[in-house]
Amino acid sequence: MSTTFQKVAAIRGMNDILPGEGARWERFEALVRDWLQQYGYRNMRTPVLEQTRLFTRGIGEVTDIVEKEMYTFTDSLNGESLTLRPEFTAGAVRAAIEHNLIYDRPQRVYTMGQVFRHERPQRGRYRQFHQISVEALGMSGPDIDAEMIVMLARLWKLLGLNDIRLELNSLGASEERAAHRAALIEYLERHRDILDEDGLRRMYSNPLRVLDTKNPVLQEMANGAPRLFDFLGAESRAHFEGVCQRLDDAGIGYTLNPRLVRGLDYYNLTVFEWVTDRLGAQGTVCGGGRYDGLIGLLGGKPAPAVGFAIGMERLLDLWSQVVPVEVVPECQIYIVHQGEAAQRKAAGIAESLRDAGLAVIVHAGTGSFKSQFKRADGSGASVAIVLGDDELAQGTASVKYLRADALPDGEALAGQQTRIPFDMLAQALAEHLA
Ligand code: ATP
Ligand code: MG
Repeated sequence: MSTTFQKVAAIRGMNDILPGEGARWERFEALVRDWLQQYGYRNMRTPVLEQTRLFTRGIGEVTDIVEKEMYTFTDSLNGESLTLRPEFTAGAVRAAIEHNLIYDRPQRVYTMGQVFRHERPQRGRYRQFHQISVEALGMSGPDIDAEMIVMLARLWKLLGLNDIRLELNSLGASEERAAHRAALIEYLERHRDILDEDGLRRMYSNPLRVLDTKNPVLQEMANGAPRLFDFLGAESRAHFEGVCQRLDDAGIGYTLNPRLVRGLDYYNLTVFEWVTDRLGAQGTVCGGGRYDGLIGLLGGKPAPAVGFAIGMERLLDLWSQVVPVEVVPECQIYIVHQGEAAQRKAAGIAESLRDAGLAVIVHAGTGSFKSQFKRADGSGASVAIVLGDDELAQGTASVKYLRADALPDGEALAGQQTRIPFDMLAQALAEHLA
């Protein structure tokens, strides 16, 4: 009895990253890790699943993420409500509190990986996507806010990206936001007739969020709304000026955007976004800011903090537009062979080459020399090693140099074929391919 199995496809908005692309992701991640290390950030990894309460409390009940984007389900074993992380900061702060990370000293940490939001999939907007989330925990001054922005400018430079601009705002302190909130509600009440469903619902629960609208009809109204920036007191202004001065010191340009509020409720003082026009509607590649209240809100001993998150898909999309996608070779050396004895010898030789640090593929199975050579070429290897009866009898390998560009004395060697005794192969090839 046989039943036909209906093929399974990936979940909508969740992408497979296939081998060629995977190599580019790895290159990108390696560059990012080096960059983070240069600023003293250390990697941490938190679970993909957390208790739902962490996010409703941390991100805020009346936000897009918590209201409609979270993958939340009940653990059927114990009835707990769990949520796939929609961002990293809440989890990082939870871990920092749980393990007393900032008990005796501030911490610079980062996490990198998948996050999940149930949004309408489109270019630059997916249901599973990747973020690099960077947090400076326990540091209060504008110096660290500015350092984070400067370090991001360095990343764009390392990646060869020019078309990203910085938007900056300050959300002030909670009393200042409260005063602004009252004025804002009054203003929104006067414009009640044009508010959309979201706007009406949020007018009293989270009026600031009404201004963060993508509805063009509301944007004009939002432009005329009382600006939080005008409600800032001396201390908040000084912090903001401190950030701006340091950006000026570093020669980093920015636009003050008084409407920038960010999609999460935990921010105060500095908020910023890096935006490009090269990605269509989804142009924000990085967003961040200060979240001095979050550690206390999540039950920790209150401590200041600041951080940002980069959307990796968007940044990689941008990077691909500027830096050509290069084909990364599958290996340096591809071994072709004929006959079982040669195949077994090939396996041993490959191990000795790997001992010398080389990347080697042994042709799997059998096949004509011609078809094996085709594979060798396709693999991007610089060198093919040929093992047949004659090579085994002589104790030497035929070595064919396939590509000039990967070889130091490439021009002379490319296309050449030589014989090298088995016991000298590793040393000779390690020298050639160094
Ligand atoms: P947006 O306004 O585009 O929805 P956001 O304010 O929700 O962004 P953040 O929560 O600040 O985004 O997340 C940080 C970064 O993650 C964003 O700047 C963006 O680059 C990226 N990002 C956010 N949502 C998605 C998504 N659904 N798919 C891919 N990348 C995303
Ligand atoms: Mg969003």
